[in-house]
Order: sequence, then C-alpha cells, then structure tokens
Amino acid sequence: TNCKSVTVMGLGPMGQAMAGVFLECGYAVTVWNRTASKADELVAKGATRASTVHEALAANELVILSLTDYDVMYAILEPASRNLSGKVLVNLSSDTPEKVRKAAKWLAGRGARHVTGGVQVPPSGIGKSESSTYYSGPREVFEAHRETLEVLTGTDYRGEDPGLAMLYYQIQMDIFWTSMLSYLHALAVATANGITAEQFLPYASATLSSLPKFVEFYTTRLDEGKHPGDVDRLAMGLASIEHVVHTTKDAGIDIALPAAVLEIFKRGMENGHSGDSFTSLIEIFKNSIR
Ligand code: NDP
Repeated sequence: TNCKSVTVMGLGPMGQAMAGVFLECGYAVTVWNRTASKADELVAKGATRASTVHEALAANELVILSLTDYDVMYAILEPASRNLSGKVLVNLSSDTPEKVRKAAKWLAGRGARHVTGGVQVPPSGIGKSESSTYYSGPREVFEAHRETLEVLTGTDYRGEDPGLAMLYYQIQMDIFWTSMLSYLHALAVATANGITAEQFLPYASATLSSLPKFVEFYTTRLDEGKHPGDVDRLAMGLASIEHVVHTTKDAGIDIALPAAVLEIFKRGMENGHSGDSFTSLIEIFKNSIR
C-alpha cells in the first residue's frame, strides 16, 4: 500500500481544507461525504471519491474523521462496523471527553484503534505548521502517523487517555467563548455610546493581552488553594462588576452576561470570601450543587 495515502470522511469546511492540503503534499486521498457534491472540487484536484462508507474505509488504514460530533460518527460507521477491523481512526470532530472515551472503546471492540484530535484553528489554519492540534490515545499509533498528521497542523500529544485531547480542547473553548462574548458585550456598550469597533480595537486588544500576566501571577496561589486578599479583594470586585452592570443598563444593552458574573461574585460574598481575592470564586465553581 502507498504509505502517503489517507481517507478523509466528512467534508465540511474543515474536512475540505484537510483533504486539500493532503493533495497538495502529494498524498493519495480518498474522500467520502454524506452530501457527495461536497467532494466535487477535491475530485477535480485528484482525490478519489468513495461512493460508500465501506469503500472509504477499505481504501486506507488511516481514516480521518471531520464530522459535526461523535453521534455522526456512529451514524456513519455503525452500518459498516464489520469493515473497521485494523483501521486507525483519527477523529477530529468536537464532542465531550466522556463521549470520546466511549467511542474509543466502541471502536476497540470492532478491532479499530482511535486517536482523538482537537483542532485549535479554523480551516484557514490547516496546512500551517504554526497551527496546533491536541492529540491523545495510544502513543505508538499516534507516533506511527505523526508525520501524516503534521501535514495538517503542528501536533501536541497530551497522553494515552482518549478523552484528554478533547478535555484540553474544551477547556480552551471555555476560555475562548466566554472571552469573545465579553468582547462582544463590551463592544455593544461601546457602540451604544458612539464608539466603533475600529476605535475600540487597540483598547480591547490591550486588555486581552494583559490577561496572561494575571493568569501567571495567580497560578501558584491557585495550585496551592490560597486566595489572599493582598492585591485584590472580592468586595472590591463586587463593586466593580456592579458598575459594569449599571453602565450596561444605562446604555440600554442586555445585562445577562455581566449579571451572571455579578451573581457568582455575590455567592462568593455569601460564602464568606469578601476579604479574599476574586480567585476564591473557584471554590464556588467547585462546590456547585447543580
Ligand atoms: P460542519 O458541521 O460544517 O461539517 C460536518 C460534516 O459532518 C459534514 O461533512 C456533514 O455532512 C457531516 N454530517 C453532519 N451530520 C451528519 C449525519 N447525520 N450523517 C452524515 N454526515 C453528517 O463542520 P466543520 O467542517 O466546520 O467542522 C468539523 C469539526 O471540526 C466539528 O466537530 C467542529 O467542531 C470542529 N472544528 C471546526 C472548526 C471550524 O472553524 N470550522 C475549528 C476547530 C474545530 P454533509 O455535508 O452531508 O452535511
């Protein structure tokens, strides 16, 4: 078999970008997608269209999945599960670590090996070595295919637990979405006051770029479970976020986002943390009874 050969299943924006860079790097690429027409452009560039899931699996040992989520993987592979033996499935679809662990077991039961991937870039970052993807699963399987995977992005192997790459992916997305929504919310308040996104850009960027310094400062304290109020106190933070909520209201902008933050500060106060750092709120998160 051709050692520079791969199957890509799922041709959304991500899968299309992936199959495209494999072709550019001289790989023999077999593609499959539920909506077959999404393969047309790739086929014109030299990809082989698999007309069935069975054909797609039969073409290569290494099969890359780029699907909406893991339920889609079952929808596609369950009817073809007799064809999975000996395959290596590198699943670059997003889902929860728990679902990934179950899927790895499901595949192992059918003689296939699973490598989890969490891609940290949009389609435009595929094919760039400075981009990064978390991987986890059997180390020797990852190592055996590392060179091929590095055609897509740089690799960051996190460990044997199949859920681990997904866990890293999701905790990054946790930061990404809450930060980006905080930016959008602040921009809504800004524009209600006649400030454009363009005018806000250097200020928003400065605030976002200051965050690593805070994260570094609090890291040791957080690992030690210490939240001294020597540089910031929760009571001060509470007053500050109240000012944000009121500024939002005065601008006629929805308060749901800062109000949620305010509610968490209040719970910290009720739990006796008023003189501690705002980092004591991590105890509120840990003791969630929901
Ligand atoms: P899309 O949701 O656009 O593509 C999903 C693929 O799943 C399509 O090929 C689609 O087929 C297929 N699919 C969905 N439902 C079914 C089904 N019931 N049966 C068969 N096939 C199905 O996603 P993207 O390409 O944007 O992303 C793929 C994965 O990568 C996702 O998990 C996403 O979270 C992750 N990701 C995406 C990033 C991005 O910027 N786009 C960045 C990082 C990660 P069809 O064409 O027939 O609908």
